[in-house]
Amino acid sequence: MPEPVEASATEEFPDDAEYGWWRDTHPDGFILAVRARSAPLLHRAVCPEVDRDVHPGRLRSKGARQICSDTKSALRAWVARELPADGKLVARCPKCGP
Ligand SMILES: [Zn+2]
Repeated sequence: MPEPVEASATEEFPDDAEYGWWRDTHPDGFILAVRARSAPLLHRAVCPEVDRDVHPGRLRSKGARQICSDTKSALRAWVARELPADGKLVARCPKCGP
């Protein structure tokens, strides 16, 4: 069975340099900030809230992940697949308004 298109549309970069590169080259992209104790939060790629240089402690803490994609729908599909307990509820960052 072929994978749904969303499965290949998200990327994750544990390496800070690769992550920074993706943000620089995808100014119209989106980043899902997965947090240990609260629902995932959707940001625009350019939002300072998902800049690891600005918030190194929070973004690199245990359980924190940043999922990158060109589309919001791919990130919603990622949540539905990877975090079924959170359902399809994805909060949007009030600062960047994705
Ligand atoms: Zn934001």
